Amino acid sequence: MMKKHTDGLKTSLCEICEEKEANYVCRLCKRKVCENDFNKEKGICKVCEMSICEICNENLSIGYCEICGRLICEKCTAYSNGTSRICVECISKINKGKN
Ligand SMILES: [Zn+2]
Ligand SMILES: [Zn+2]
Ligand SMILES: [Zn+2]
Ligand SMILES: [Zn+2]
Repeated sequence: MMKKHTDGLKTSLCEICEEKEANYVCRLCKRKVCENDFNKEKGICKVCEMSICEICNENLSIGYCEICGRLICEKCTAYSNGTSRICVECISKINKGKN
């Protein structure tokens, strides 16, 4: 009853390292990835982890906040003039300071 491993049939390889068995699917990019390349807490792969929004941890970022330097997504961008952007948290701090 020894079945041979057939490529791509039952076990698929991690789409990042292409070495280990892919046991997880990234919820953002839908890549199939191995345990090493997956962040279980966030449910995302390593590639997405590097570019995920650091505020909501939900969406892929589109740039850095001018003030805090964090990666932020479109949703968490409160202000953008095309070249620089400011996140929602920094904007609310600025607004508080203005009072
Ligand atoms: Zn991998
Ligand atoms: Zn991913
Ligand atoms: Zn965000
Ligand atoms: Zn900020």
